[in-house]
Amino acid sequence: MRIAVIGVGFMGGSFLLALRESGLEFKAFGVDIKGEAIKLAKERGIISEGAEDIKALKNFSPSLVVLSTPVRTFRAIATELSKVLTEDTVVTDLGSVKGKLVYEMENILGGRFVGGHPIAGTEKSGVEHSIATLFRGKKVILTPTEKTDKNALELVENLWNRLEAKVEHMEPHFHDYVFGAVSHLPHAVAFALIDALMDMSKERDTNLFLYPGGGFKDFTRIAASDPVMWRDIFLENKENLLLAIEHYANSLNKLRSMIEKENEKEILEFLREAKDKRLKLEES
Ligand code: NAD
Repeated sequence: MRIAVIGVGFMGGSFLLALRESGLEFKAFGVDIKGEAIKLAKERGIISEGAEDIKALKNFSPSLVVLSTPVRTFRAIATELSKVLTEDTVVTDLGSVKGKLVYEMENILGGRFVGGHPIAGTEKSGVEHSIATLFRGKKVILTPTEKTDKNALELVENLWNRLEAKVEHMEPHFHDYVFGAVSHLPHAVAFALIDALMDMSKERDTNLFLYPGGGFKDFTRIAASDPVMWRDIFLENKENLLLAIEHYANSLNKLRSMIEKENEKEILEFLREAKDKRLKLEES
């Protein structure tokens, strides 16, 4: 196989490392706007060739292209790809948003595009942090539509199975509702919590961040994630994220009102129910 990754960062690098470790024989090409990322990926043996311009893919002639850049770059990249790829090249992605983006990618690239989202990652970015075992035992959501080419889907699904990932299919818009709630909302809340504490620090001319407890550190770990990646996710999944923020604000207001009224019984019920739900998650 000849595999090209566009965006040789944490996820793209991890995907290639994992495929290598699975014993698959392939040649890897990396495209990245940062020359440093290509250099690092070569040094780590993740790719053998690389370029800063997508046009270089014409000579490499890949059988599979994997997009792993921030999601708002996808449309422009797909347009460039459609000019340099042959008809039989399969294209997939590792992006965190699907929804209308999948249908737009399909309009540009046709049925050979297979939307994918590995539910694995960390707050770290860059190919220097890529790890071969990232996807093992983790869910990967594929979002085929009625236009998706069956052979393209099979190829992508087989690769994820090789990596011991658990493949699930979802309709693209439903994917964004689900991950708007379970992933995009918690990231928005973590970033906003840091912002609130910066405001409160200013108000009393102090530095609240000198006293981070374990809870604060656990809760805000993901606020150290890449700002460009998250700006793109927030904007690309705007509708679902706004809906999720509204639900979260309602819940916070419910709790606020119980505290204001010093309603012991209601507070205890609210906390007990949340604790039970969280414990069940740990068991599953
Ligand atoms: P990253 O910052 O580590 O890597 C992204 C790379 O893309 C960088 O090297 C950057 O230079 C390059 N890039 C940016 N714009 C480009 C362009 N126009 N053309 C070519 N290269 C470009 O980010 P990452 O964590 O690897 O995330 C990549 C994708 O994976 C994103 O779409 C993200 O939503 C998705 N994702 C990330 C995680 C995670 O935990 N990090 C989890 C699931 C999905």
